[in-house]
Amino acid sequence: MTINRTPISVQEAVGRVTTNIETLPEETVLYTESYGRILSEDLRATNDVPLFTKSAMDGFAIRASDSTGASGENRIAFKVTEEVPAGSTSDYELKENEAFRIMTGAEVPKSADAVVMFEQTKETEAGFTLRKAFKPGENIAMQGEECKTDEVIVQKGTFINPGTVATLATFGYSHVKVYRQPVVGIMSTGSELLDVDESLERGKIRNSNGPMILSQLKRMNIDGRLYKLETDDLDTLLLRVKEMLEEVDVIITTGGVSVGDYDHLPKLYEALGAKELFNKVGMRPGSVTTVSFLGSKPLFGLSGNPSACYSGFELFARPALLKMMGHDKIYAPVLEGTLGEDFKKANPFTRFIRAEVGYVDGKVHARPSGFNKSNAVTSIAKSNGVIVLPGGTRGYEKGDGIKVMMTDMTTGSDRFDI
Ligand code: AMP
Ligand code: MG
Repeated sequence: MTINRTPISVQEAVGRVTTNIETLPEETVLYTESYGRILSEDLRATNDVPLFTKSAMDGFAIRASDSTGASGENRIAFKVTEEVPAGSTSDYELKENEAFRIMTGAEVPKSADAVVMFEQTKETEAGFTLRKAFKPGENIAMQGEECKTDEVIVQKGTFINPGTVATLATFGYSHVKVYRQPVVGIMSTGSELLDVDESLERGKIRNSNGPMILSQLKRMNIDGRLYKLETDDLDTLLLRVKEMLEEVDVIITTGGVSVGDYDHLPKLYEALGAKELFNKVGMRPGSVTTVSFLGSKPLFGLSGNPSACYSGFELFARPALLKMMGHDKIYAPVLEGTLGEDFKKANPFTRFIRAEVGYVDGKVHARPSGFNKSNAVTSIAKSNGVIVLPGGTRGYEKGDGIKVMMTDMTTGSDRFDI
């Protein structure tokens, strides 16, 4: 079979994938299980926050007007009439120069409009004296000052972070509607592949792409399923992929997309009747990356070369999966920084280089994270981003301004400097 392969740009390829993706239906989950999911409906306040006007300090609640004219030379005396600890309330009407003793979080009684901190007073037999005038509202948190009943607090399509979980708890949502997570099947193809606990033998290698993709999914809070196929036989491949399609929403295969004698993926797509979005992308590594659809199910045909497989997942599978999950920000953060090494040879295709991204003199700096060929594995382990070098007629030099796509935002710093 001869296949027509015309490269399209990475930008175009990513666009074709994401526009064809459909968001999955919603489901309801327990709020304590919702971290990392995407909200499928706006989260609204079920009450004002604060629910009632409350004291922001431990001290005395007064009528601000009673403190008018107070100074160091003219201390004004107040008489304490009642105590209001947090959780209690009082309907007592303050009279001139009377005060409540009040604790942080307690409702400020209607007749008071300012709170004087203990530290701003001098105790007396009947109460206290103060030396400055207070304005209405001082040291008071007003009802609804943070948000009002029915206000949208977090929008549909937002990633649920620890603060969202706190918000769910605040408003009494023990359950929350989120989009369903995609079920993803990973199939590594190749007669040369061995499992992790098998001994190496001549002509064979251990399958590193399968478990790598499983972890790339885990990084996105998605559980993947590993399927194995230690053969390059087309009929077996077809049978296995049909079985997988019964069980999963997305299939990611690695290997077999090139033009080698046993690279059957193109024939597989044809046999399945899949709609191909592209089969060649203007990028290195991974130009043979193929994406097709069977109904609403995407099939990602990633290159077997580990580095190509890794960046292929981040470029195409990641935004697609985030769209399925209902995320409203599906693309990886791209930072502008300086290049840490020369890449003098021009290349017509856009190059993606696994990189260590950090800060030098407060500026983003990216350098290759190790051996830089498409079959490299170890450089992926040391990377937290991917340098993007657009194709063209010129090479790049150390110090040039470049873009870097972040793949791992959890990388820490070796120093704490704020
Ligand atoms: P292919 O895409 O099948 O032409 O494979 C390209 C290269 O990647 C070959 O050197 C394969 O041996 C290697 N390769 C394929 N699949 C894997 C895998 N699952 N893990 C590690 N290397 C692989
Ligand atoms: Mg192969």
